[in-house]
Amino acid sequence: MDFSLIVPCHNEAESLPAFYQAVRNTFDTAGLEYEIIFIDDGSQDGTLDTLKRLTAEDGTIKPAATIVSFSRNFGKEAGIYAGLQHATGTMLGIIDADMQQDPAISLDMLRFLQENPGFDCVAAVQEQRKENAVLRGFKSAFYKMFNRMGTIDIPENASDFRVFRNYVAEALLSMPENHRFSKGLFAWVGFRTHTITYRPNERLAGTTNWSFGGLMKYALGGIMSFSTKPLRMAMWMGGLVSVAAAIYLVVVVFETIFARNAQPGYPTLVCLILLFGGIQIFLMGIIGEYLGRTYIEGKHRPIYVAREVVQIGGLPESAAPAPAPESQN
Ligand code: UDP
Ligand code: MG
Repeated sequence: MDFSLIVPCHNEAESLPAFYQAVRNTFDTAGLEYEIIFIDDGSQDGTLDTLKRLTAEDGTIKPAATIVSFSRNFGKEAGIYAGLQHATGTMLGIIDADMQQDPAISLDMLRFLQENPGFDCVAAVQEQRKENAVLRGFKSAFYKMFNRMGTIDIPENASDFRVFRNYVAEALLSMPENHRFSKGLFAWVGFRTHTITYRPNERLAGTTNWSFGGLMKYALGGIMSFSTKPLRMAMWMGGLVSVAAAIYLVVVVFETIFARNAQPGYPTLVCLILLFGGIQIFLMGIIGEYLGRTYIEGKHRPIYVAREVVQIGGLPESAAPAPAPESQN
């Protein structure tokens, strides 16, 4: 198998027929043996039926396809992980199902790797985000913060719209963590990556799966998964506040002894108590967040649970994966 295209899908029934057609228009004539790995990530709009209908054998020659259907919504990162596990190609690609990313760009990235053995991965970066200014501002601030916090750098606007060689996939799979943050994982495994820019299309159907709150959570999770710097910052902050408090203590003592202007001091006290209380709770929150993650990771739960895995074409019957339900991590 030359190429495996991994497609995480969550409620994409409306987009999938056009998407499947676009993939076939691009790759059927590309002169390579390819497969499509669809992940139905707990969709509730008939995505699985649509996928089965599109990929079913009907006497015509169709590309090999695997459909991994999750038992519930596990998130796109889990979908990508499942896709990596089921892919058999020497090169792999990840693409969204909503047609915002053109399959023709995947082929361009694949060709680049074929022609440049010195590179292991091609990443497509959005040229211009069709989003409102506030969201864009937040995203840009996130990348700056992430790169400042961590030991690894991720390029601004990097996405998981990529094509890479199978050993890059193996490296990604070797990281069994539950809190998966692809942009960071790709940066962490390293390898020689070539970056191209692309302009995303409008979503074909449906709405984005991301809410503002969801994005914030994802961004914070990304930082927490790759950096313990917030803990160190908490330490510095605590130190700074202690020094300030010590200085103030000296001032108070001097005032009491020499100035003898014993003030009521009540507002100062209340302010200080609230300030220190707030800082302490904030710092405990940071520690708690890391502790919580350690707890979740410590359970070694699978990253996803599959309800059904359907294999169409490609592999002979005997090599087909074990029947569902299966769980992997
Ligand atoms: N997706 C998924 N599971 C989820 C959310 C999203 O598999 O829980 C898929 C979705 O179907 C799409 C891709 O991830 O193929 C990108 O999602 P979306 O278009 O909502 O993100 P955006 O393009 O707005 O960043
Ligand atoms: Mg999208």
